[in-house]
Amino acid sequence: MIVSHILSGKGSNVLTSGPQATIADVASTLADNKIGALVVVEDDGSVCGIVSERDVVRQIAARGPDALNLPCSVCMTRKVVSCSEEETIDSVMGKMSEGRFRHLPVIRDGRLAGIISIGDVVKNKIEQAERDAEELKRYIAG
Ligand code: AMP
Repeated sequence: MIVSHILSGKGSNVLTSGPQATIADVASTLADNKIGALVVVEDDGSVCGIVSERDVVRQIAARGPDALNLPCSVCMTRKVVSCSEEETIDSVMGKMSEGRFRHLPVIRDGRLAGIISIGDVVKNKIEQAERDAEELKRYIAG
């Protein structure tokens, strides 16, 4: 199973933010859309970072409520790990596990083509396990 299978089900829409958007803006967008991370892009669409709910929480813990007025660039992760549409789900799981993060932007020809979350990966794995079990049952039943 590869990344494009997941994207064909959930679509390629990715919520993004500019690096100057405040941490308060980011928190609102995350909450309103029930998501855990935003990809940060420059005006030309190039990816310059990723900011997750954990980054927001850490900033508030470190600086208090004043953190909300700071640009999200102060807390985004600049070295973004990404994947391609052809990559296997096992490879994506390996990257998430190794990097200890739960979001992986998908890049095609240098542009954002989707995002995979740990929730998407788990859903895919459960569906695969259910299909395998069904196949095994059919095989045993002859
Ligand atoms: P998450 O588990 O996705 O909420 O993110 C945990 C930490 O990893 C945060 O500091 C994020 O900014 C960072 N992070 C999330 N996704 C990625 C990614 N694909 N590449 C690099 N860092 C990431």
